[in-house]
Amino acid sequence: MLEPLIYDLSRPGRQGLTLPVVDVETTPLPEGLVRTELDLPEVDQMTVVRHFTRLSKLNMGIDTNMYPLGSCTMKYNPRINEVTARLPGLASAHPMQDPETAQGSLALMHTLQEWLAEIGGFAGVSLQPAAGAQGELTGVLMMRAYHLARGDLNRTKVLIPNSAHGTNPATANMAGLDVVEIPSDARGNVDLAALKALCDDTIVGLMITNPNTLGLFEEHVEEVVAAVHGCGGLVYGDGANMNAIVGKVRPGDLGFDVLHYNLHKTFSTPHGGGGPGSGPVGVSARLKDFLPGPVVVRVEGGLENQPAHYALETPSKSIGRMKSFWGNFGVLVRAYTYIRTNGAEGLRGNSEYAVLNANYLKHKLEDVYHLAYDRVCKHEFVVEGVWADAPGVHALDISKRLVDYGFHAPTNYFPLIVHEALMIEPTETESRETLDIFIDALRKIAEEAHTQPELLQGAPHTAPISRLDEVAAAKQLVLCCRPTPMTA
Ligand SMILES: *Cc1c(COP(=O)(O)O)cnc(C)c1O
Repeated sequence: MLEPLIYDLSRPGRQGLTLPVVDVETTPLPEGLVRTELDLPEVDQMTVVRHFTRLSKLNMGIDTNMYPLGSCTMKYNPRINEVTARLPGLASAHPMQDPETAQGSLALMHTLQEWLAEIGGFAGVSLQPAAGAQGELTGVLMMRAYHLARGDLNRTKVLIPNSAHGTNPATANMAGLDVVEIPSDARGNVDLAALKALCDDTIVGLMITNPNTLGLFEEHVEEVVAAVHGCGGLVYGDGANMNAIVGKVRPGDLGFDVLHYNLHKTFSTPHGGGGPGSGPVGVSARLKDFLPGPVVVRVEGGLENQPAHYALETPSKSIGRMKSFWGNFGVLVRAYTYIRTNGAEGLRGNSEYAVLNANYLKHKLEDVYHLAYDRVCKHEFVVEGVWADAPGVHALDISKRLVDYGFHAPTNYFPLIVHEALMIEPTETESRETLDIFIDALRKIAEEAHTQPELLQGAPHTAPISRLDEVAAAKQLVLCCRPTPMTA
């Protein structure tokens, strides 16, 4: 049953508030500014509270259910992050403020830049990009600018493994470059021979995700980097899977020239509703001057009684701005808080538990679900959601049935190289007890697939609405609440 719109609950003349009697002199508004006949619902407070509380309960989110959506790192968002993001000095800082009066905010940004540089092993960081995908575009534009600045004008190709996230080829395309796909080998790595055959002086570089979207660490990553560097190309790291390796491996140490961090994945800022996110980029020394500006720098002296102050600076060969003002500042505060409250040991421990949890699930499910690649995984793993002796059941049916068991679906049909892919990422924040209930649910579903396939095909049975027309849901968004829903 569809929930009523707030307009359906409207009754002429009904009010949710009482204004105090005016006890000061009143001045009429200028004619042209007076608005009457507002198209607003007329409802009492109880109705408003119940309506929106009911709506909030229809949603499935990390605060209500385990959310094993692979590649998305749906971990717990610590509430302390919300406390710091709301501190008046940070929440009320204005982007047009004189930097001298916003030293605390700038110090926070500077520290975050330094921490991310240290975590990734990079020489410089810009906090500008608003999401991972925008970080990718930033990185590829920097790689392109680097070659052009050296007068190396013939590089037009970007190599991308076939396991990559769709944003990688989309990014290269947006930067005006040609995408060349590289196959994966039987163990889920980049096919080294195929890569070497493509490395020449026409490549801008390689975009690589490590661990990759199969949840597997590239076994030949150093050789991959050497092959790309050997022909003058640069290596872009898609850092969406950093949650598996923070405190363990630094992409900069592997020779990556640039990497984006998804603060809304690895560093626990809320996501899932489409933003705001943050996708800072870290770069090696040779790309530092190309970073989008402004970045925050620490300058010795300058302010009375202070040893140093913080200023905004645009690097000398900067590709320009990627975002208005200073990036998504509130997200930066949350990520800063997360890093600060965990510390180095805490961050390393989180990666260890994320990997342990994924391997625990994999081990407890592998006799029932076919593993796409049977290797020790990092923070996630991919199974095939299909059985030869249950031909009517597909990965999507398994995902939908999981909703009935109280779980958000895993990622479906990605990566594209796995047939009927189900990509499962538990994150470090799920307890052993929750993991066991999840395992139980998936094992029961596998049994149902063979004994009562129609249960899966008709799922979910308990959700407020069952299956959506997913194309229409994405293409014909209804973003406004109006008395009569708009038709496209
Ligand atoms: C999430 C993700 C991205 C894109 O990041 P957004 O912040 O959603 O733009 C890129 N690559 C991989 C592997 C991802 O999981």
